[in-house]
Amino acid sequence: MTGTYDAVVFDNDGVLVELTEMDVLRRAARAAFEDHGVADPPEPLVEHAANGNLDDLARVEDDLDLALADYWASREDHAVAHQTDAIESGEKPLYDDVTALADLSHRKAVVSNNQHGTVQFIVDHYGLGDHFEHVAGRDPTLAGARRRKPETHYLDAALDELGTRDAVYVGDSPKDVEVAHRAGVDSAFLRRSHRTDTVLDREPTYEVETLTALAERLAD
Ligand SMILES: [Mg+2]
Repeated sequence: MTGTYDAVVFDNDGVLVELTEMDVLRRAARAAFEDHGVADPPEPLVEHAANGNLDDLARVEDDLDLALADYWASREDHAVAHQTDAIESGEKPLYDDVTALADLSHRKAVVSNNQHGTVQFIVDHYGLGDHFEHVAGRDPTLAGARRRKPETHYLDAALDELGTRDAVYVGDSPKDVEVAHRAGVDSAFLRRSHRTDTVLDREPTYEVETLTALAERLAD
C-alpha cells in the first residue's frame, strides 16, 4: 500500500500531547456546578460531566433544576481554563516524537474532540502553528459535544477545508479509526503506552507506536 497522501490529519490528545488527567476535568465540572449555585454536586453527576456523558448528565434538569445547556456551557469554559492551567504548569506535555511532523511534507491538520479553545491554546503554546493549515476542536455547546468523533462533522470540515479526501487520520482511540472509516479516509492507530491493551473493533490502515514510525511509513 502506498504511503503517499495529500493530507495527514491528527487527533490531539494522546497523539500530540498527553491525555488530560481526569481530576482536571472533575475540578472543572465541580467549578461549573458552583457557578450555578450547586456547592456539593452528587458524585455521579460530577463523573458524567467530567466524562462528557450527556445522556446521563441530562439528569441535572430534573435532579438540580438546572438547564443542561447552561451547565454544559459553564463546564466547557472551566474545562478550557483548567486544561490551559495544566498545560502552563507542565502537566500536559507535548510528546517528544512530535518533532517527526517536520518529516511529513503532507498538508496537515488537527481535528480533536477537545474544546476548540483548548486545542488552539495547545497549538499556540507549543509553537505547532506552522505545521497545520486547519485546527479544529469542538464548539463549547451541546451541539458541539454531540458532533464529537466518531461523528464525522469536524473531520469532514477539515477535509473540505483542505480540499481533499486523499488523507489519513491519525489517532490513539478506537473512535479515531471509526471516524476515518465513516469519512472514507485511511486511518493510522497510534498505540501509545496508554493503549497497550486497547482492542480495536475495526482494522486500521496502519498501526504504529510512535509518530516517528508513522512518518517513516508515510514517507514518499
Ligand atoms: Mg486521542
